Amino acid sequence: MTNIYKYVSILAMSISLIACNGNQKSSSESKSPISVKQTPVKSILTAEEQKNMTPDEIIGRLKKGNENFVSNNLTQRDHSSQRRMATIGQYPKAIVLSCVDSRVPVEDVFDLGIGDIFVARVAGNIENADIVGSMEFATAVAGSKVVIIMGHTACGAVKHAIDNTDAASMEMNSLQNLLNEIQPSVAMTEKNGEVSSKNVAFTNSVIHNNALKTVEDIRLASPKMASLEKEGKIKIVAAVYDMETGKVNFK
Ligand SMILES: [Zn+2]
Repeated sequence: MTNIYKYVSILAMSISLIACNGNQKSSSESKSPISVKQTPVKSILTAEEQKNMTPDEIIGRLKKGNENFVSNNLTQRDHSSQRRMATIGQYPKAIVLSCVDSRVPVEDVFDLGIGDIFVARVAGNIENADIVGSMEFATAVAGSKVVIIMGHTACGAVKHAIDNTDAASMEMNSLQNLLNEIQPSVAMTEKNGEVSSKNVAFTNSVIHNNALKTVEDIRLASPKMASLEKEGKIKIVAAVYDMETGKVNFK
């Protein structure tokens, strides 16, 4: 009787193991796209590579990198090797101004790593003197050729600006100043339904306009960058990162 019980138990375990293997196989078969084993990238961007790329080529590469992010197919990188090489210097191809939002991992969004881009971050991706100074350094001094102002869907800073949150009354004058910087983008957006962050279409329009306005503000704030752009040496562009799809929509 005991032996029969043991036999039945072993049989049951075997069946469950086969079932597990079967499930694993079907789940790996359903994975798409098929990830090919890559050799991790060990090098970083060189001065020569930076010099030879046009602004449009850089934007094309960033778009391709974003496609990799969307399809969950990020490039493998040897960060130890890249970190060691980066001690010699940096030749990033672009500077991205993003919101501080933790759900916007800028380097990953463009499938980039050490030495690839400068990243400036401030809630609501607005322009101010320190941000423009950082961009002047990135472009006129360090040779980056593309400036991307990247807003994102569901931006809390924009939502609070739309809802007229009174931060000053809560002893947050600096946050109030920041929200005041976003207010012109709210004012310039065509009113379509309720002026509230609950109105997703309106909020998305403000996010879009806010990124475009920051581009204009930067051109006005930096004659140097404006003239570099006129000469075709750099491009300053707006974009919005879609939190749901991971796609960066260039404007
Ligand atoms: Zn935000």
